[in-house]
Formats: sequence, C-alpha cells, structure tokens
Amino acid sequence: MTWSATVLTIQPDMFPGPLGVSLSGKALAESAWSLETHDIRRHATNRYGSVDDTPAGGGPGMVMRADIVAAAIDAVERRDRPVILMTPRGRAFTQARARELAAGPGAIFVCGRFEGIDQRVIDGRNLEEISIGDYVLSGGELASMIVIDAVVRLLPGVVGASDSLSEESFEQGLLEYPHYTRPQVWEGREIPEILTSGHHKKIRDWRLAQSLELTKLRRPDLWDAWQRRHGVAPTKH
Ligand code: SAM
Repeated sequence: MTWSATVLTIQPDMFPGPLGVSLSGKALAESAWSLETHDIRRHATNRYGSVDDTPAGGGPGMVMRADIVAAAIDAVERRDRPVILMTPRGRAFTQARARELAAGPGAIFVCGRFEGIDQRVIDGRNLEEISIGDYVLSGGELASMIVIDAVVRLLPGVVGASDSLSEESFEQGLLEYPHYTRPQVWEGREIPEILTSGHHKKIRDWRLAQSLELTKLRRPDLWDAWQRRHGVAPTKH
C-alpha cells in the first residue's frame, strides 16, 4: 500500500504546489505516495458556500463551523490513518513524529483558516493537533505541506542514499555537522584539512564533535536531552 495523504482544505488549488516538484514530486509521479484534496466547501449548507461563522462570545475574525468540518472529515475514507489538525496550538512537529507517520498508512490533514476551527470538532473527532512552529500562518495548507514533505522523504526509495537520512539533523538528537564540497579553496577559505585526509575514523570523530558543539551552542533543549540520554548530568545554562 502506498502512503496516502488526504488534505481537507478550502484552498485545494494550493496542492500539490511545492509537493509536485523535486523529490516529493518525482515520488508522487512514480506513485511512491498519493495525494488527494477534499474541498471543505463541498459540505457548506448555504448557497454562498460559507464554512465559517462569527465566534461565540464575540471577538475578531471567523471560526470554521463544527458541522461542516466534521462532515468533510466523515466523508473521507479513514483507512487507519490519523486525522491531524494543523494548528499553532498543537504539539510541535518533530522528526520522530515524521518517522512514525512514515511507518503508517498515511494521514488525513485538516487545514484551518480564519481564527481556526470550532473546538467541538477537535474533541468530537479526536483530532491530533500538530504545530510546525511558534508563529502564525494564515492557513494550515503550507503547514500540512511541510509535514507531508518531511514524511515523504523518509519513505523507502524516495531519497537515494538512506545513510544521508540517518546522519541528518535530529536523527540522533543532534544538529548535523557542517558540509563542504569543491572548490578546495573559496575566497581564501579552505575545506577543513581533516575532511580531505581520507582518514574515515578521524572524519567521523570530527563530525560528531562539530555536531555536539553546534547543538550545545544553538539548541540547549536538544543538548540537555542528549546529555540525559547519554547519562551525563545536563549543563546549567
Ligand atoms: N487563531 C489561531 C491561534 O491564535 O492559534 C490562529 C489561526 S491561523 C490565522 C489559521 C490557520 O492556520 C490555523 O487554523 C491553522 O490551521 C494554520 N496555522 C497557522 N499557524 C500554524 C502553525 N504554526 N502550525 C500549524 N498550523 C498553523
């Protein structure tokens, strides 16, 4: 069975968008995964196709209606796939969640617009809430594309060399080491000598040291977790 994504949206024309080019696009063309959109407006109950209404309790903006969003969710075949709501209030998306999703049959994505969707659908349909970061986008479509892209590149055969995946940032709980390629000298800057030494063990050690240093400097949260996993008391910040 191919990994399949269904996206519930009021902007179906945004898809496949960037997912239709490069690695994910090639894999889509080769049916290594599948993508369908489902227009939430199909479930609108008035002739204007409205999917939203004013917020109960007052306040700015509009809220997507529970009955309409639920009808869209219920119209899609589940096939054991999790139903994910893209929302800044969700749990932060991680490489670990991308790996879990890639190991499953696919996912159904609900894309919010306006102020978001009525809480009763989230509760009533037991939606998994995922955020792609601490900032607010105007809709869930780009956020769902980011999750789909991160998952699709983990599917078997999508990225050529599978070692390039296992060494990437976050896979070992660390940021990746820096990369270099030809020319040997660029604007007076040389490739670190060790990388051209041909000494594989020293290169591995150098890369690990770089990963540790970068993680410690830039991501104290990951660094603490890594130290804990390796039985080291976390550094005081
Ligand atoms: N009122 C909401 C809040 O303050 O949490 C923001 C709504 S936002 C303007 C509209 C939609 O964009 C959301 O319902 C969600 O689907 C999507 N969205 C915005 N930022 C997101 C993020 N960081 N991660 C995932 N989805 C996001």
